[in-house]
Amino acid sequence: MLGQGVQLIPSPDEIMNILKRTEAFREGHFVYPNGKHTAHYFQMPLAFRYYDTARVLAVALSRKFRVERDIASQLPKIAIISPSSGGIPVAFGVRDALNAEQIYWAEREEGKRMFRQYVNQGEINPCIIVDDIIRSGHAIEETVEIVRALGAPIIGCGAIVRFKSAPDQIADVTIKSLVNFDEKFYDSGDECVDCKKGVPEEHVRF
Ligand SMILES: [Zn+2]
Repeated sequence: MLGQGVQLIPSPDEIMNILKRTEAFREGHFVYPNGKHTAHYFQMPLAFRYYDTARVLAVALSRKFRVERDIASQLPKIAIISPSSGGIPVAFGVRDALNAEQIYWAEREEGKRMFRQYVNQGEINPCIIVDDIIRSGHAIEETVEIVRALGAPIIGCGAIVRFKSAPDQIADVTIKSLVNFDEKFYDSGDECVDCKKGVPEEHVRF
C-alpha cells in the first residue's frame, strides 16, 4: 500500500480536469508577446479564483514536498517563495498545508525581479520556491539568484504545471509539478498550423 501522502495526490488527468473546468486551460490559437504561436494557453489565476480548487491544487503540490525528508525535517522553519504575483496564491496555499513559517514573493520593478525593500540578508529560512506555472523557467532562475544573494538555502521548487521544455532541476533540487505539459511552440506564424488554417489569433499578455 502506498503511503497516505502519495495516495492523496490527484493524478495529472484530474488536475487537468480542474484546469479545464475553471477555464484556466484554454484551447485555441494563441500568440505570446515573444511572437511564438501555440494551440493552448494556461491562465492559472482562473483556477485560483475559486477557493476550493485553489486549495486542492496547493495541498496536492504541498504533498510532493512533505514526502521529502530534507524538507519535512526542517518544518516549520522554512519559507515559501513566489517568483511573481501568479505564484502568490500557490505560496499561501502551500504554506498553509505545510505550516511553514514564512512567505515571500518577488515582483518586477523596472524590469528587474526583486523582493520588497527591507528584506535583509540572513532573514529568509531555508526555502521552497513555488509558482503557478513554469513555462521557460526564467522567473524561477531569477528568483534563485535573489534568494541566494540573501543567503537562503533552496530546499525545494515546484509548480502546478511545468512545460516539459522547461528545466526539471534547479539549484540542485528536482522541480516538482502536478502536470508536465508537452507544449508545442511555433517560433513564428510561418510554421504555425493554425495560421495556415486561418484561425483567428488571440494575443496573450504573458
Ligand atoms: Zn499561428
